[in-house]
Amino acid sequence: MKFDLKVDFTFSGDVSSIKREIEAFISSYSKSLIRQDKSAKIKSLKIQKNSLSFDIVSEGSFRPHNVLLQMKNAISKEFGKKHHLGVREINIEKYKIGFELVKKPLKKITIPFADVKLEEKQATIMLKDVDEEFLQRNYIDRMITLVKEKVENQYYEGKGEFWKLIWESGEKKQVWLKDPTEEMVKLSWLKQGPTKGKWFYRPQAAAILKTMEKIAIDEVLKPLGFQEIIESSMVPFDIWLKTGHLEGMPGEFYYITEPATRDTEKWERFVDLTKITKEVPFDELQKNVSIPTAGICYAQCPVIYWSFTGKTISEKSLPVLIYDKTAVSGRYESGGRHGIERVDEFHRIEPVYIGTKEQLLNLREKLLERYKHVFNEIFKLEWRMAWVTPWYLAQAGKIGDAGNQDTGTIDFEAYMPYRGDRKKSEWLEFQNLSILGDKYIKAFNIKAQKSELWSGCSGIGLERWTTAFLAQKGLDPDKWPTGFRKYLKELPEGTEFL
Ligand code: ATP
Ligand code: ZN
Ligand code: MG
Repeated sequence: MKFDLKVDFTFSGDVSSIKREIEAFISSYSKSLIRQDKSAKIKSLKIQKNSLSFDIVSEGSFRPHNVLLQMKNAISKEFGKKHHLGVREINIEKYKIGFELVKKPLKKITIPFADVKLEEKQATIMLKDVDEEFLQRNYIDRMITLVKEKVENQYYEGKGEFWKLIWESGEKKQVWLKDPTEEMVKLSWLKQGPTKGKWFYRPQAAAILKTMEKIAIDEVLKPLGFQEIIESSMVPFDIWLKTGHLEGMPGEFYYITEPATRDTEKWERFVDLTKITKEVPFDELQKNVSIPTAGICYAQCPVIYWSFTGKTISEKSLPVLIYDKTAVSGRYESGGRHGIERVDEFHRIEPVYIGTKEQLLNLREKLLERYKHVFNEIFKLEWRMAWVTPWYLAQAGKIGDAGNQDTGTIDFEAYMPYRGDRKKSEWLEFQNLSILGDKYIKAFNIKAQKSELWSGCSGIGLERWTTAFLAQKGLDPDKWPTGFRKYLKELPEGTEFL
């Protein structure tokens, strides 16, 4: 890497009278830098009134910005005692950082706080007017990483996710070719709305969804010893900062705003306008709500991990097996919405497991066995399993590749006869199962007495289980497989509409 930094230290008073001493100090400091990295050099030293400015250049691994805070302390210590002079402020006037990229960029990139120049495999970032806080918060190293990551991502864009078949049920005879959502709407079992991607489940559809929930709990989670927890559906941003969701999917969250105040006087105009216009006074509303600091649950696991923050788990509690079925998930699916299978608000059960690597690999086998029992014996589904790499692990670049099958995600996919040919059409991901190594364990500082911990989760989408089952088995309970009929033989009558 190549660094060229121009910095200015502002002293608490005039230092021209101790110019020699400062020069001597910087010169010895410079020597100590050379011992760390031969290419590091301090040059163009200038002292004027209360300002000391110089350049630090280096062509090795030594990053000049990392030494400035240390230098400030050293200078203040040296001259504070003798002359009662300290450094008030550091300001990097200009900073040029050049580094080699692994791959040649495919197009221009930009990042905040700096100009980026790309030439073949060489990247240069130019910063101006960097203050001390910027240094303390370690932004510069992250900016370098971000440039590398953005170039790397140019090669993934549009490539789709990694997908490798690991198991398939084989063909099953299908009873119909209709889209179950449309048919349920016609029968008034379901009603779309009240807004985009949301549904009202009338008694018949609700009974099917609730049966899915019961089957998942009775046939999979309870037999394996999972215990239920109840979590909040409102997730503060600091949790998503830790899991990486905030940088991963900011365009998919439903954001939550709090009122800026409960003071009725402040809301008076809003109330009056509502009474008079019988419309929502959005401009007035905006004055009385805060900027979002949270979002609606995207997946349940982040809050579950948060609940273990900083805890040491007793060996006898391992593996921790818990699940949430209360929090409702919200995702802004935009153009992708379809029926009840891709919605903006959905109901999931999410089991989370924390334990040793051996415990989790063993649990995965048991979960797979129970899931297979449900999909083969109870639903008699045509389905398959594939190894995939979700975005948040693909970015880390470590987890989920075919060579390493300890960590990663398995997607469960069902054939949807209404979508056409089983070879050509897209199958529906109706759930997944992941083992994520120590990613979240580290992020939330979770420990055991002795063991190294890993964690994982599985997302059971009730709407997805429902549509997968109905798309293959139809809406007539008499024709449903016996195993399923043990749970639900007939549907509630519902309301007759005239
Ligand atoms: P997809 O690729 O279909 O968007 P995803 O990879 O975003 O799915 P995950 O984040 O892995 O989904 O969530 C796990 C499970 O949550 C899915 O297997 C599915 O059961 C359910 N799910 C996710 N998004 C939706 C949605 N928009 N509507 C209904 N269920 C969903
Ligand atoms: Zn999860
Ligand atoms: Mg998705």
